[in-house]
Amino acid sequence: MIRPVVGRFAPSPSGYMHMGNLLAMLLAWLDCRSLGGEMVFRMEDLDPARSKRVYAEAMAEDLRWLGLDWDRGWPEDGDYAQSRRTAIYEDAFETLRARELVYPCWCTRSERLAAASAPHPGEREHDSGCRCARMTAAERQAMRLTGRRPAWKCRCPDEAITVLDGHYGAFTQNPAREAGDFIIRRADGVFAYQLAVSADDMLMSVTRVVRGRDLLSSAPRQKWLIETLGGTAPDYCHCPLLTGGGTGKLSKRLGSLSTQVLRKEKRPEEVIGELAYLCGLTDTVGPVSARELLDGFSWDRVKTEDVPLE
Ligand code: GLU
Repeated sequence: MIRPVVGRFAPSPSGYMHMGNLLAMLLAWLDCRSLGGEMVFRMEDLDPARSKRVYAEAMAEDLRWLGLDWDRGWPEDGDYAQSRRTAIYEDAFETLRARELVYPCWCTRSERLAAASAPHPGEREHDSGCRCARMTAAERQAMRLTGRRPAWKCRCPDEAITVLDGHYGAFTQNPAREAGDFIIRRADGVFAYQLAVSADDMLMSVTRVVRGRDLLSSAPRQKWLIETLGGTAPDYCHCPLLTGGGTGKLSKRLGSLSTQVLRKEKRPEEVIGELAYLCGLTDTVGPVSARELLDGFSWDRVKTEDVPLE
């Protein structure tokens, strides 16, 4: 079945965006619009402690300022904010639980690693020493009686899963061996990134996921989750990261590069021009609009190696 093309912006409002985020947004928009697709804006504000309304609003303004538009989603429709989608994640959670893919985990170390936000490079995503998966019914009952609320983990499939990435090619991972069981709901009730992003991409009919290549290693688990929930996985197309010299991937904490500063100092065409040049879309730096880049856009031109930002 041919599905209409749907792309998405899915930022997390835990800080102001920087050039690295903007590159992923620009490429997501170019990819979707060059295919004549519809763009969705989803606000990934799962984690109440880290998400701030001021960042979410700034993100929408940044995208508008850059001329990257969307057809449905946040902020016009509040139901595109993950903080408002708990009932949807409950359903997905129950579907997995009915298939015996979910178990409670009382490890405090696992809980600390439980992420409501996307995993960053080098971050451990699971506690390989956790033995909650192998608890007997009696051990579980004993833990329940302590009254401590568990986190919930998803049993990873012990099979090779291949994602055909549109930019990096075939990527194969055995989640059980290479990633490990992952938390899908924290002990405080907050759903975790992998579950929410998969349920949302499925239910929002997303067919094109474009984002930084640090999330390529999450794609096999997301593909598996979506298929297990009865959906069709999107095509994944990861993009290079901008790196901040010796410090690795750019972080939103690098305030000097935040859009708050960029928007005061530059015109949108200048920022787009720099992003296009950095990722290989243009041969020279110069002002250009996102719309102008649509003409002749091709992933073949986009670099695969990460780009150091001076
Ligand atoms: N919200 C995630 C982030 O800002 C991106 C999630 C995704 O694209 O799958 O890092």
